[in-house]
Amino acid sequence: MFTTPLTAAAQARESASKIADLRFQKLFEDADAMSIQGYLVDGTVVYWNRASETIYGYSADEALGGNLLDLIIPAEMRAPVEGAVRWMFETGQGIPPSRMTLRHKDGRDVPVYSSHTVVSIPGQSAVMFCMDADMSVLAKAEDDLRIAATAFESQQGMSITNAESVILRVNQAFTQITGYSAAEAVGQNTRLLASGRHDAAFFNAMRGDIARQGSWQGEIWNRRKDGEVYPEWLTISAVKDKDGRTTHYVSIFSDISAHKVAEEQIKTLAFYDPLTHLPNRRLLLDRLAQAQVTCSRRAGQGAVLYVDLDNFKTLNDTVGYVQGDLLLEHVANRLTACVREGDTVARLGGDEFVVLLEHLGENELDAANEARSVGEKIRQALGQIYTLGVFEHHSTTSIGITLFGAAQPETTDEPLKRAELAMYQAKTTGRNTLQFFDPQMQVEVTQRAGLENDLREALNQHQFLLYYQAQVVGDGHLTGAEALVRWQHPQRGLVSPGEFIPLAEDTGMILSLGQWVLETACSQLAKWAAQPVFSHLTLAVNVSAKQFREEKFVPQLLALLTRTGANPKRLKLELTESLLVSDVEGVITKMAALKACGVGFSLDDFGTGYSSLSYLKRLPLDQLKIDQGFVKNILTDTNDAAIARMVMALADSMDLAVIAEGVETQAQKEFLAHIGCQAYQGYLFSHPIALADFEKFVQQGH
Ligand code: C2E
Ligand code: CA
Ligand code: CA
Repeated sequence: MFTTPLTAAAQARESASKIADLRFQKLFEDADAMSIQGYLVDGTVVYWNRASETIYGYSADEALGGNLLDLIIPAEMRAPVEGAVRWMFETGQGIPPSRMTLRHKDGRDVPVYSSHTVVSIPGQSAVMFCMDADMSVLAKAEDDLRIAATAFESQQGMSITNAESVILRVNQAFTQITGYSAAEAVGQNTRLLASGRHDAAFFNAMRGDIARQGSWQGEIWNRRKDGEVYPEWLTISAVKDKDGRTTHYVSIFSDISAHKVAEEQIKTLAFYDPLTHLPNRRLLLDRLAQAQVTCSRRAGQGAVLYVDLDNFKTLNDTVGYVQGDLLLEHVANRLTACVREGDTVARLGGDEFVVLLEHLGENELDAANEARSVGEKIRQALGQIYTLGVFEHHSTTSIGITLFGAAQPETTDEPLKRAELAMYQAKTTGRNTLQFFDPQMQVEVTQRAGLENDLREALNQHQFLLYYQAQVVGDGHLTGAEALVRWQHPQRGLVSPGEFIPLAEDTGMILSLGQWVLETACSQLAKWAAQPVFSHLTLAVNVSAKQFREEKFVPQLLALLTRTGANPKRLKLELTESLLVSDVEGVITKMAALKACGVGFSLDDFGTGYSSLSYLKRLPLDQLKIDQGFVKNILTDTNDAAIARMVMALADSMDLAVIAEGVETQAQKEFLAHIGCQAYQGYLFSHPIALADFEKFVQQGH
């Protein structure tokens, strides 16, 4: 080979270029992130750097001398690659950098970003260099992003906030659920969605969970843009930086209102009768069990009323099921209207309904009476005419009643069975009636119901009259009488007030009865005033607490005194301590007003109540009446004697007079006189007697 000697400059250039070559070689070799390969026009590998070994899996020894197309080009790309390579060698240009998916030695895809250049050195074969950056790491990150973006636009509502709960980003579902567009929501605090249904404690608990475990999950009521409050299932996760500080919150939620509705529907199906929407047997038993527990805890009682329409089957069979159903709906409505809010009306099926009454109090007879009056109300309500489309229908009802709670514990369905049995009893006794399971209770309740009806009639029928019982001082000097009401019952004869006063109090009839007593007493006083034998007599009249509490009591009594012309000084009202359970101030005011007009006051049954002495001192009383209970055993029971003494001392200190009632023997009278009691009332002097007898008694000079 012929060579020309080199000039010094050329030598310098050559060594510089050699050095540069060496540098580039090293650079090529060490470029760890960049696979660099050199190829000849036929694809023969002439250069293979270290990064190529890692990216494609072939060592330089394996690759050099091999063919590009066999090594790293997937079969389907052979033709285009061959074309491109040929073009590059022909034109001496590279193709623009591009993404390609090449092949690893082990067959897997290698995503690369590939640049190509053809280097032609005169006299040497042109070499195409490929520089491939491995994209697999980047591609994965890109995939993650794409997946995240897809996930973010999922069916669930999502929002991302900063640590101060200011919304930074929301997705499409967020907008669909809340009604707020991204533009409206971003920049707002999440309070925007608050429904106001949760208290501070709820949010404190939520924050506590997030602080402790990084997330919270639960049901929450939020408010849509249109104002509708809806339930959502919400998960909030805190996003923390590497120092553990919360930088963001991610909320994911779904609207569960549809779910809730379904849940409600399922509950409705399980516990309610689809026709009437009343609780079914299952829910009734549930409530009954609860009521039994409450009763045993509070020593109260409840009642089960088993209500069954008479002849329902006939209606169904004659006019048809549609009308039958209509009737049942009416019945359900009427039943519901008959009970209080806490009570349960249930439909067991067919024409059988059950009413569960709770909180009827401790006293069995009172509870039974209340249950009876609800039962009676139901019987009457269900007895009204029904309009069923074009039909008018009349129906009667049989009701069985039983109480539960007070006696021994029992299974839940026992009261139900008892009430049902009582209902059948009601059917056999002629329908359209109520029947208690307990025969004794039935008797008592019936009697009382009868009495109640009779009592209503009694005032109109002038069946009441006053008896008079003498009140005396010292050795029998008559000062006046206590007026005691009697009821001349057309069948039962003279009924004592002990039997009907409590009933009159319960039913409110005491008001008109009490007014009648006062009217009669005042008229009597006025008549006596005109006759010298009687003109000095006083009349003590019992006034029930309920009556005295009436707003118009004072003006009515004053008007009565004026109308009858009775001297107020001859009238003495007997009040009991039960008046002092509430509004003592009001009582004092009323008493003072009457006292100012001359009316006197005696405190009846004194010693049996629990009135506080401080109240007692403030009442404008004239007299204490030692209860007959103490007088009865005053000679034998040291306690009773001590109480009588104490009443005397108390009266003395308060400057009040004292009268003892129920004095039956001379010995009792003497004992009372001995401890300082000078006024008496009792069988020893006279029983309560009719007016004519009393007037005779007075005229005989007592
Ligand atoms: P009370 O006011 O304590 O009346 C006294 C009761 O004791 C009367 O019973 C009377 O007949 C009876 N009694 C009188 N002396 C003796 C005696 O020596 N021994 C015994 N064992 N008993 C005696 P009554 O008339 O049956 O009245 C019962 C209660 O009915 C009265 O008790 C009073 O609380 C109430 N009452 C009577 N009349 C009226 C009235 O017009 N209005 C109101 N609100 N209550 C009345
Ligand atoms: Ca009395
Ligand atoms: Ca008394």
